[in-house]
Amino acid sequence: MTDMIPSERQAQILDWLQVENRLAIKQLVARFGVSGMTIHRDLDKLAAEGLVEKVHGGAVLCVSERQEMGQTAVSPLSSQSVCKLCGGTVNERTQFMVMRQNGEKQLACCPHCGILLMKQLDDVSSALTSDFLHGRRINVFQAYFVMGSEVRTCCLPSTICFANQVEAEKFQRGFGGEVLDFTGAEALLRHSHQA
Ligand SMILES: [Zn+2]
Ligand SMILES: [Zn+2]
Repeated sequence: MTDMIPSERQAQILDWLQVENRLAIKQLVARFGVSGMTIHRDLDKLAAEGLVEKVHGGAVLCVSERQEMGQTAVSPLSSQSVCKLCGGTVNERTQFMVMRQNGEKQLACCPHCGILLMKQLDDVSSALTSDFLHGRRINVFQAYFVMGSEVRTCCLPSTICFANQVEAEKFQRGFGGEVLDFTGAEALLRHSHQA
């Protein structure tokens, strides 16, 4: 892997961190066959973009921006843990909640199911999901959706939300798929479920 360009290496580091949560510089040196200095530069770049956090001797996926928004930003949006649409398990990183005008809340496993769920209801008052990188709550109408990337969450095409367009685009460059706004994501899902 010594002939990888920095951006390829950085995407690979992010990819591994999604799965392994924490990586030591030593591990990265061994895996890529490059110097510790090179790995430091990669991590500095990713840290400057807010994607990872450098910790002693290594890096973790960025969680520093998980902050209170409302009362329970990091905890699950609901005590329910099963997707209203598909019955799948709800993951905190991808959870999606639809609020109805009568105050009822419905939880979906991911933005994929969440958007389809919204289409079944005619009285949606608002909808929230989690930023995939930072865990912050975001209004789905203002979110950026990376659809069909290589990072599989629960439902296909995989649908991952970001609060920040630049981060969504960086993720897309690393892992493929396309970046869409809510309208675009809804149109794509409507299309893929009619086929
Ligand atoms: Zn689901
Ligand atoms: Zn899902």
